[in-house]
Amino acid sequence: MPERPDLEYVVPRLNEALAGRRITAVHPGDPVVQRLLVAGGLDVLVGRTILTVTRRSNVVNVHLDSEVDLVLAPMLAGRFALKEPRHRRTKDTVLALDLDNNTTLWFRDKVRMGRVVTLPKGQWEKTPGLPKVGIDVLSDAFTLDALRTLAKKRREQVKLFLLDKAAFDSFGNAYADETLHAAGIHPKTRVNELSDDDMQRLHSAIIRVLTHARDHIEAAKPPLDTKLRDFLKVRNRKGELCPVCETPIRTAGVRGYDAFFCPQCQPDKKGRGFVDWRNARR
Ligand SMILES: [Zn+2]
Repeated sequence: MPERPDLEYVVPRLNEALAGRRITAVHPGDPVVQRLLVAGGLDVLVGRTILTVTRRSNVVNVHLDSEVDLVLAPMLAGRFALKEPRHRRTKDTVLALDLDNNTTLWFRDKVRMGRVVTLPKGQWEKTPGLPKVGIDVLSDAFTLDALRTLAKKRREQVKLFLLDKAAFDSFGNAYADETLHAAGIHPKTRVNELSDDDMQRLHSAIIRVLTHARDHIEAAKPPLDTKLRDFLKVRNRKGELCPVCETPIRTAGVRGYDAFFCPQCQPDKKGRGFVDWRNARR
């Protein structure tokens, strides 16, 4: 799914292209993605001017000059593209907005798990399925003490802890795995088992991994609808060699999520996910 570094690249570009533009027509796609909390359907967007486009957690807020705001939640597979109205919309376009400068915003979602939400102005946190937004991990507020406070009384596996959007703004699967690899922590380690040293490494890895990803994507300037992941070290690299120690990357199930990790860099102190080295190297 688009994660924070992807959205940090995409959203400012959407803002640059869309702010100040008037919506001249709306082309809704599959209604299964729509959660319209304002009467009038998506037609209420027509004639409205887009003021700004911003990111909160993993959703994109389109602020309008009206009593209605539009929230686009990419969830698993949603992505954005800027086209001209003459381009034929793809089948997976779940919303297209024509603008007054011969541009069309496409919101595509081939698995239709994303959301197109209209809400009363300023009430974006009522977006269905959106939890309270956690601490911005790239802000000054995210100190080691702040991480320790969040971790207090938590007993779940550390990968699930990172995925909790009410705790952190924000992680998805890919950067949670990359962060744990950079911190040298096994994804199944329980939060209450993390040592003080683990906690320090986790804190600095969170900042380092997300900052590097953001800067890398910014420098590469991929098309808006392309997820750039070629620089990741463990995610989706099962069987490939860890770039740090050349041990084959493994996967483990973490409560319904998969986790990619290096058994050498991220040893499991309790022996969970025991690796048979003869099999691993075959
Ligand atoms: Zn390794």
